[in-house]
Amino acid sequence: MNMVRLILFPDDAQSPIPDQKLLFDGLQSAGLVGVPSNRDANIYCPGDQFMRLLTFLGCSPTVSMADESNDNDNPNNYYIELAEPTQDISVLQDDREFSPRCPQCGKSNSQWHSPLTSAASIYRCNECGMQAKAHEWDWRRHLGFGRTWLNIWGVHDGEAVPSEKLLELLEKLTGFVWNYAYSRK
Ligand SMILES: [Zn+2]
Repeated sequence: MNMVRLILFPDDAQSPIPDQKLLFDGLQSAGLVGVPSNRDANIYCPGDQFMRLLTFLGCSPTVSMADESNDNDNPNNYYIELAEPTQDISVLQDDREFSPRCPQCGKSNSQWHSPLTSAASIYRCNECGMQAKAHEWDWRRHLGFGRTWLNIWGVHDGEAVPSEKLLELLEKLTGFVWNYAYSRK
């Protein structure tokens, strides 16, 4: 399995854990999620609407909806995982270092950066003095936060974005607005 991913998570990091069954069943009936893979209990193959619910920005790949376990390097192998929710806000990131922008003045803050250990730590902007929790800073799609999230494994940074339809569906199923980021692991 290609360990790069598009991560979908609630825009407000403090959102509560939604009804996971309702969310999963909704994504499956909409055709984002297909048949189970043999990789892990939570990992599924793409459903028949996968290519419509994501917008690929370059050439559209030919997506395999079956589990091709002997073909780990196939760039067109995608898998969907509804991660186990966490009580605390999880930081969804890889091990690259990245400095966020201040939510008030927009200046990049080079005094601190990811990887983060906690979403709730408070940081102060050196430019304007604003103090805000880590999840309130602008990470520009380099990392996400949340108690619940969806991994779409195999999507490289900028390769695809969630369609409006998918974002609307997630909002309808959970009651809150969703956002997205990319990670290399
Ligand atoms: Zn600032």
